[in-house]
Amino acid sequence: MCGIIGYIGNRRALPVLLDGLHRLEYRGYDSSGVAVIDGGLLTTVRAAGRIAALEDKIGEREIGGTIGIAHTRWATHGPPVEKNAHPHCDCKGRIAVVHNGIIENYAELRSGLRERGHIIASDTDTEVLAHLLEETFLESGDLAASLREVLKKVRGTYGIVAVSSDAPNSLVVARLGSP
Ligand code: GLU
Repeated sequence: MCGIIGYIGNRRALPVLLDGLHRLEYRGYDSSGVAVIDGGLLTTVRAAGRIAALEDKIGEREIGGTIGIAHTRWATHGPPVEKNAHPHCDCKGRIAVVHNGIIENYAELRSGLRERGHIIASDTDTEVLAHLLEETFLESGDLAASLREVLKKVRGTYGIVAVSSDAPNSLVVARLGSP
């Protein structure tokens, strides 16, 4: 079972998120990732395997920012490779989502998104959430309201945290049937 963590506050987000990932390690996972908003830009780093591999990829990179999300994945849809690790992003790389659970109707949601021109980059059920959010957020400009709209279209179980570099002072969460 995977783990999700979100942080918004006054501290640098990255160390808080990495510490959170280590605390969630005992639950088991096959890959991990973080997304942090810094200076209006969303930076995402993901790695297959141990959290140490993620930390190696982050290396000496100066990732500032006081808001971010992170995830340890236990694959249900798509093999445990980097492109399937969370966070998943929208087409513009401005929205990032971590998700625990299963989106049962992801296949039909994904075909609709492809027909509307979205580029799907992973094999996961989760990625549809980022692209659906992209569409609704563009219309409403309200991330929480957008997530509520998206979840009306979704069947399944979830714990979700989402952020957008266009709403750098909010972190939105939702849960249904997942711890
Ligand atoms: N179903 C999602 C995936 O396969 C989330 C799995 C999980 O809960 O870690 O990426």
